[in-house]
Amino acid sequence: MNLSIPKEVSAILGVLDDAGFEAYAVGGCVRDLIIGRDPKDWDVTTDARPEKILELFPDSFYENDFGTVGVKTEPFLTNGRLDREHDIVEVTTYRTESGYSDKRRPDEVSFVTNLREDLARRDFTINTIALGSDGSITDPFHGQDDIRNKTIRTVGQPEERFGEDALRMMRAIRLFAELRNPEAESGRNWTIESETLDAIREQADFLSHVSPERIRDEFSRIILSDSPAEGVDLLRETGLLSHIVPELEEGVGIGQNLHHTYEIYDHNLRSLRACRSKKFDVRLAALLHDIGKARTKRGHGKRATFHNHEHVGARMTRSILRRLRYPREVVDRTTLLVSRHMFYYNVGEVTESSVRRLIRRTGLENMKDLIELRIADRLGSGVPKAKPYKLRHLEYMIEKVSGDPVSVGMLKIGGRDLMEELGMEPGPKIGAILDVLLAEVIENPKRNTREYLLDRARALSGEELGTLREKARETIEERREEDDRSIKSRHRVS
Ligand code: ATP
Ligand code: MG
Repeated sequence: MNLSIPKEVSAILGVLDDAGFEAYAVGGCVRDLIIGRDPKDWDVTTDARPEKILELFPDSFYENDFGTVGVKTEPFLTNGRLDREHDIVEVTTYRTESGYSDKRRPDEVSFVTNLREDLARRDFTINTIALGSDGSITDPFHGQDDIRNKTIRTVGQPEERFGEDALRMMRAIRLFAELRNPEAESGRNWTIESETLDAIREQADFLSHVSPERIRDEFSRIILSDSPAEGVDLLRETGLLSHIVPELEEGVGIGQNLHHTYEIYDHNLRSLRACRSKKFDVRLAALLHDIGKARTKRGHGKRATFHNHEHVGARMTRSILRRLRYPREVVDRTTLLVSRHMFYYNVGEVTESSVRRLIRRTGLENMKDLIELRIADRLGSGVPKAKPYKLRHLEYMIEKVSGDPVSVGMLKIGGRDLMEELGMEPGPKIGAILDVLLAEVIENPKRNTREYLLDRARALSGEELGTLREKARETIEERREEDDRSIKSRHRVS
């Protein structure tokens, strides 16, 4: 086995070694190196105390309260942004942890001088292998055997280890989802060892002691892994999901209708599995797009309906993602995709103006992802073809109308013109008139001339604010109702 340590990390081990300390690469990087995956980052463990580490490396700083020191290096990691100035190697002093009375944090952290003790506090055997700069391996918990057998197993008693820090239960499933090979058809694939898995089932409720931010970070990594659907399903099966996204469980065992083979929950998972996008919000939207279906189901059997499920689902998505403390951009974008996932499109029936309305409501920058979501949705329903002619035609139409005005900013006149040419006072009426003009231009882009728009604005300027707002809504919103209704009547998809 060629376990080559990058020179930036070797240099750190060398400095510590020359100063008379022990130092090893440890954790995920060694695990990944042995498996043959690209390590995401590098961690070093040493018997040098934090003050000493800071002294030996001028370009270093405290990373957290436990005395982890970040040492800056030239960029060498394979997954970072190209324009970054440096990478950071985390150097941590050997330590033990004890007394986890709140099931998430040690009451006490103490530095030790013995490598084995440091390895013993770590979560899984595959994460406890230490690699020296000379290639020597220290592996007291037989992590290499577990890597060979593709087994995720806690160091020591699983009940005890999960009782110390309940997040480890999610980390087990996150590792499973990341390490598992989704393509493997035969042979052994990664599993969680049975006692470890049983302990998760028994103690899943301890997850309620863990902060939403830590849960969020592991959940995100499951969604971004190569086996996200298997990861989410294992969360459900062990009982962890009810502390993360219990709303998904509302769809378990709930059938759909004539148009769908799979139950709601299964379809959500299948859509996530089928999602080709690597983007987090698109994958999340694939998982959550039908989250509102269980609550909107009316009727039984083949004739059941799910009217409005995309809007109910969008509200649920917003509240789920806020609860998990996702940043606003992620919340907004995922919610938008969920709320738009029912967009109607059928070659020959859809006009250019309805495509412009769709773009107006969705944002041109989101159309590609919305199509990816539709593809995931289709594949998740069991249809054989990811991208039928219909969707390719929509892409063509989007391209075709993409230069047309779909926002007030693209109109040939603006608020200033209304004030200067028509002598209007600043105020909400200006915005309302521009909205009406936009609605008319979306219907027919040829109207986007200064002359036409000023004429129309003059005619509209006598109207009341309420009437103007009504007019703008009529054209954009009412037409949207119409577009949506056509989905239901023509396809009875709801
Ligand atoms: P990756 O770098 O791919 O995220 P990793 O295993 O390196 O995986 P980190 O979060 O970087 O995960 O943690 C580094 C090491 O610290 C782990 O390999 C493990 O040994 C230890 N560790 C991390 N979190 C915990 C925890 N909650 N309990 C015990 N040990 C942990
Ligand atoms: Mg790591």
